[in-house]
Amino acid sequence: MAAPHVLIIGPPGAGKGTQSSNIASEYGVEHITTGDALRANKDMDISDMDTEHDTPRAYMEAGDLVPDAVVNAIVEEALTTADGFVLDGYPRNLDQAKELEGMTELDVILSLDVSREELIDRLTGRRVCDDCGTNYHVEFDQPEEEGVCDGCGGELIQRDDDEEESVKNRLDVFHEQTAPVIEYYEDRDDFVAIDGEQTPDEVWADIKATIDDHS
Ligand code: ADP
Ligand code: ADP
Ligand code: ZN
Repeated sequence: MAAPHVLIIGPPGAGKGTQSSNIASEYGVEHITTGDALRANKDMDISDMDTEHDTPRAYMEAGDLVPDAVVNAIVEEALTTADGFVLDGYPRNLDQAKELEGMTELDVILSLDVSREELIDRLTGRRVCDDCGTNYHVEFDQPEEEGVCDGCGGELIQRDDDEEESVKNRLDVFHEQTAPVIEYYEDRDDFVAIDGEQTPDEVWADIKATIDDHS
């Protein structure tokens, strides 16, 4: 089987990062995530792209989208070196979706559904490893030792944009800009909706069966 081309889409907190890690290790594909790429380059100079702010940081801390030119370039570059991939966090608006069509073909689009109330609980309780980026949750996915990453021993921190105010803005941005992308994909044969409110293992079982079916 050729390395699959997977797109995972859903609101902030739906479990995209958690499930993308499973997909990357099970299928040996690259995890391409615009969120992580931007967090690693929060202070890069984007002023030559004619943007309102000079770095990604101001957009990200408010929970607004970073300008398309910046993220399109990140994804285009990452795709040139990836054989198979799971793409997470992109596209987030219709212009990005159209841009992606010129870059690669997809085998399957996984859309994770989770209610707004559950998303707020997941995001405000999320903790991430400052070193390796692994996700934890203060209630739903605790590390063995509080505040310490099981995998690498790094420190677990709360992202700035997981504070409640920024979380609410991100959910609004999702409804305004990203929900239309899901509607745009919905009628395709390779589109599959996944119930993201199940346990992480149950969600993973559905995802694995779906990818095996489509690649
Ligand atoms: P989430 O946990 O909400 O899925 P991400 O880690 O994917 O969050 O993204 C964090 C932030 O990075 C977003 O709120 C946004 O500011 C920026 N970002 C990530 N991907 C994109 C994208 N495709 N387009 C614009 N901004 C993006
Ligand atoms: P996204 O990348 O879509 O923003 P994450 O994978 O980072 O989402 O998950 C958000 C938070 O919810 C994390 O703290 C994670 O540990 C937790 N989480 C992920 N999947 C589930 C699940 N199925 N049930 C409960 N909590 C989950
Ligand atoms: Zn770690």
